[in-house]
Amino acid sequence: MNIILLGYPGSGKGTQAKVLSQKLGMFHVSTGDIFREELAKKTPLGVEVAGYLSAGRLVPDKLVLEVLKARLGAETRGLLFDGFPRTVEQAESLDAWFESRGQSIDAVIFLNVPEAEVARRLGARRTCSGCGKIYNVITNPPAKEGTCDVCAKPLLTREDDKPEVIARRIQVYKDQTEPLLAYYRSSGVFREADGSLAPEDVAGKVAAMFPGKA
Ligand code: AMP
Repeated sequence: MNIILLGYPGSGKGTQAKVLSQKLGMFHVSTGDIFREELAKKTPLGVEVAGYLSAGRLVPDKLVLEVLKARLGAETRGLLFDGFPRTVEQAESLDAWFESRGQSIDAVIFLNVPEAEVARRLGARRTCSGCGKIYNVITNPPAKEGTCDVCAKPLLTREDDKPEVIARRIQVYKDQTEPLLAYYRSSGVFREADGSLAPEDVAGKVAAMFPGKA
């Protein structure tokens, strides 16, 4: 099974992908996490994408696709994409790639959250520097301020969760990623969940889309 999670930055894709990939035994593919790892390790790819990430702009399609193909070529588990595709060109390339492997997309789940709510969430988001767990300092704070409940490592504000970058990421979503809703709506596998609910309630709604599996 292959699944795509769609939605604004801050709509909960990362949080839901972690839960759902565990429940379904799938491989969680976050292009944002891949780029941040490369950046942290200062690899040539990390250096190349650094400026795009810090400015809240999309990494060029060609580069994203090369990285994914290199990482996923040998993967045999079902793929759960979070943050990819982000442009119609990426979606078309993904379709062609699946077709060349005799596979297809089983579900595209749109986490629907109003724009004002995602802006608020991104400003309050903190990410664990150790395990990547995502917190919201207002609605879902850690037990001890600034420290991860799971691995006790410090929580950080992502570079691109700073106020000046948040507005650009929202605009980039509207311009380049929102057209994917129409692209997938006509595909027959499009699903929608109310992403403005509490994370565990969203997880329940998403799990209910896969009865007997999740
Ligand atoms: P995310 O963690 O998904 O919010 O991604 C963080 C940043 O990584 C984005 O703002 C982009 O700069 C870059 N990025 C992640 N995924 C993609 C993608 N599919 N296409 C282009 N850029 C991406």
